[in-house]
Amino acid sequence: MKRIGIAGFLHESNSFSPIPTPYQHFKETSYTTGKSLLDRWEGTHHQLGGFLEGAKQFGFKPVPIFATYGIPSAPMSKESFEQLSSDMIGLIQTALPLDGLLLALHGAAVSEPFPDADGELLARIRRLVGPSLPIVSVIDLHANVSPEMINATHALISYRSNPHLDQRQCGIEGSSIIMRILNQEISPIQALECPPLLINITKQYTNEAPSKQLYSDLETVLNWPGILSASTAMGFYYSDVKDMGASFWAISDSNPSLAKKAAQWLAQRAWDRRQQFLGDLPNAKQAVHMTQSKIDGPIVLMDVGDNVGGGGPGDSTFLLSEIVCQKTSNALVVLFDPEAVLTCVEKGVRQSIDLLVGGKTDNHHGQPVRIKGKIRLISDGRSLDTQPRHGGHGLFDQGLTAVIQTLEGHLVVLTTLRSAPRSLEQLYALAIVPENMHLIVAKGVVAPRAAYEAIASQTIIVDTPGATTANPANFKFQHCRRSLYPLVKDVKYSASTL
Ligand SMILES: [Zn+2]
Repeated sequence: MKRIGIAGFLHESNSFSPIPTPYQHFKETSYTTGKSLLDRWEGTHHQLGGFLEGAKQFGFKPVPIFATYGIPSAPMSKESFEQLSSDMIGLIQTALPLDGLLLALHGAAVSEPFPDADGELLARIRRLVGPSLPIVSVIDLHANVSPEMINATHALISYRSNPHLDQRQCGIEGSSIIMRILNQEISPIQALECPPLLINITKQYTNEAPSKQLYSDLETVLNWPGILSASTAMGFYYSDVKDMGASFWAISDSNPSLAKKAAQWLAQRAWDRRQQFLGDLPNAKQAVHMTQSKIDGPIVLMDVGDNVGGGGPGDSTFLLSEIVCQKTSNALVVLFDPEAVLTCVEKGVRQSIDLLVGGKTDNHHGQPVRIKGKIRLISDGRSLDTQPRHGGHGLFDQGLTAVIQTLEGHLVVLTTLRSAPRSLEQLYALAIVPENMHLIVAKGVVAPRAAYEAIASQTIIVDTPGATTANPANFKFQHCRRSLYPLVKDVKYSASTL
């Protein structure tokens, strides 16, 4: 039976995030090796769960090596990256000989010396295992794909849904491809095409236009004879790196010109619709005002500038300030504020409280807001969701958490850990019934919709300032590859083979 190593290292690095990314953060968030990797990931909706499922379906022995991830935050320090790389490569070396490697990466990892940290890691692994050992990697749809990532792998596959609900399926696809390579049924050739295109983060919901069309184009290419796989990654423009932007690639069976043609067809189709990918959103004041007249069901406000799943600090108060200022009723706001949680714990449940919340990480996410009310609940902040949710993690940990009912009737949830809103279980576990709220602030853009869409009467995406603000023109990029649309309006692109 073939022995295929399973490993993962996922970080989405935001060059504008105020949150540091030390080695210890990975150790504390999720760091598994050997059997603990199986215990953590088997049966999950993550691609690591898909790799393990693939072992059963296609009959190989999975060798669990190493898997870690951190929450999206600033680029890794040199020390952090080198330590993680050395842990991972050391364990791969110990696991040799292997017949192949299945890797879960993000594709938007940045470290201080290596802007393309995924490409660097893949190149190191390739040097260790030699040029011929099959390596197949499944990456995030928000990857900034580099030629180095393509060159070091036999096949690279990205998720095809945002929110990411197909991670497990992509893992199974990767398992199928690596086994077909090992059985000498196929010989994959990859071609990458990167038009100078940024897709606004608020236009990346794959269930709606304009992104829906990107993925129906992808389906078309997947049905071309001779195409083994193809991917469209929307990119992550909070990583200020050379390869930042949308990318398109295809994998053919021994046919370089077919792979190139497929990748370029996808890129040209997206480029031709580039104006549809521009953002056009209400600001915080306008968005809160829009909720005033509506009474039925929860209205979900997506706090784009403080997207915890993209490197936001989770304590932005721009929307909370507007909610207080405009005297909106029955709102739910979750804020990262460990200091305020400790104050609540000292006071105790059912006690009155008067404190300043949020706006403490830096000066770019609003001022702390004064709230008065009663401490309704204190919790360990943990919850479990067995449904497919963006990220595929299943387990959610907000750390020690306090729920405050304010005098105005709002619920303010204060957490000790930064935790992206991806599951309603994160709220049910706190005895909150989100269905009963008039207004819910979710610190994200698209990812929360997998959970919140089921209860939302309306979703409003809000152009708030911050580390993950929607408009790329708000950032001072220093390293991105060249003129990119829409940062430069008249940039030209034309696929060479079409
Ligand atoms: Zn993503």
